[in-house]
Amino acid sequence: MQDEFNPSLPEFHNPNQLVKKHSRSRSPERRPYTRNPHSDNPLKIPKNFIKLQDGKGSVLIPSLAGGLLSFKQFMEMQHSPIPLSEAQGFYNDYKLKFEQKHLEIFFAEHKNEPWFIEKYDPIVSQKWQEERNLNAKMMQRIFIENVKNSKFQGLKLQDTGITPDNLSGAPYFGFDPNSLTLFLKTIPTNVSRWEILDVLKNCPGFLSLSMSEPLKSQNFARFAWVLFDSETHCLEGLQTLSGKQVTQDFRLSPILSKASSSKNIKSQPPVDTIENDLKLSGQLITTLDREKGIYENPLLITPEQLSELPLIEKELQLDYQLLYLRKIHSFCYYCVEEYDDERMLAAKCGIAHVRGKYDINAKLFTDPRIEIRILNSGSFKKYDKDTDEILSKKLKEFEDRYTVQEEENKFRCDLCKKLFRGSEFIKKHLAVKHVDEVNGVVKERMENIMLERYLSDPCKITNPVILANDTMKFSERRKWEPRKVNNESYEDLDDPARRNNRRKIVDYSDI
Ligand SMILES: [Zn+2]
Ligand SMILES: [Zn+2]
Repeated sequence: MQDEFNPSLPEFHNPNQLVKKHSRSRSPERRPYTRNPHSDNPLKIPKNFIKLQDGKGSVLIPSLAGGLLSFKQFMEMQHSPIPLSEAQGFYNDYKLKFEQKHLEIFFAEHKNEPWFIEKYDPIVSQKWQEERNLNAKMMQRIFIENVKNSKFQGLKLQDTGITPDNLSGAPYFGFDPNSLTLFLKTIPTNVSRWEILDVLKNCPGFLSLSMSEPLKSQNFARFAWVLFDSETHCLEGLQTLSGKQVTQDFRLSPILSKASSSKNIKSQPPVDTIENDLKLSGQLITTLDREKGIYENPLLITPEQLSELPLIEKELQLDYQLLYLRKIHSFCYYCVEEYDDERMLAAKCGIAHVRGKYDINAKLFTDPRIEIRILNSGSFKKYDKDTDEILSKKLKEFEDRYTVQEEENKFRCDLCKKLFRGSEFIKKHLAVKHVDEVNGVVKERMENIMLERYLSDPCKITNPVILANDTMKFSERRKWEPRKVNNESYEDLDDPARRNNRRKIVDYSDI
């Protein structure tokens, strides 16, 4: 990786030239830089050096391999002084490139793992979203039925200071992570959601599967929870699923779920006036419902109907709306966060998030993220392979590349050398006979979309940034001559007066 640093690789194959070069010039900008063709650096860095604005000096841009240099280390590497007014800008630029490169490395390491594909592949992530949509529709029907049948009797999402024994009953009707649930630990990275679902769907009373984010500390393995409709089915599931084969080298070993942080109930003052909370949560419901293909919601009432309600019923209506947001959309109105499912919501926010009493004298603060979420709703575009213009352009290029016209009405497939009367036949032929090659083009496009999505995900998982240590700094530096000493903003580490025995002295013959 340090090869990126070689001013010019061929030089090093010729020792005479090397010595000459070494003795001739102390000025880095005189040395031509050619990119090492063997370097596997995915980022295209045109030069190691960037000229300063006054043209008198240049900035050495460190290698992106290894650890991140501190500003001080960055400055110590320089051969010529950089005005401090410009130095920070150059350092920030280097840091940004460094981080980008390490995100790309993370991407390359994980892009073929199911958790990554489920999250970022445009088609697979959509498939999962569609399953969640179907689930939301089913849960909505159940929720509305439960409201009609007074199943939420005693609902009150207000702070009482008491933790009820039955977390999933009155007054909060929270999500009890331990009830009706089996826990599956350490799902390896190569096992997909659908492989597990295939096994679970034959289990009587199986309701849903919830998977954790991959755990960095456990080699990106995931945890999973399986929800059943009754304790009887849950216990039966425990029996039938034990040792059940999912893939060739992975078997299930479920246990009854026993989360320790299950009684966490958050409380906070009301966000706004009750009228505004009712309005905003109603708008949120309509927004999130539509995203999941739900176009009717009998829970919502008109502003006229609302204004006629006494306060106590307004509060009940608000409680229904907030509970609906949690149960159907895994959305906490007070945290303004949404999760993949209610279990994740309960794990992050708590089994319930309740409010204090409305106080007309209280200073109110409406979280702007609520309105942003409502306004941004239209921006969730469905991905459609057939209308992906970039993909069709790439496929066209692929067809053109392998269509060779030999004479009029004589075209050759350049992959298998078969002859055709017209180019349109080659298009069909490629689609049928060279499926793998065509799929390769599609795969490349999907990976590009995945990378874009990964890079723009504000919650993306990455590796921690490793900082460069002194050893690393030394190995980076060793290919360069000592720096000039006339810049007071750095010290010359090669100054003989500073040299200590710990440091190995390296000259060009080592390379
Ligand atoms: Zn919350
Ligand atoms: Zn062919």
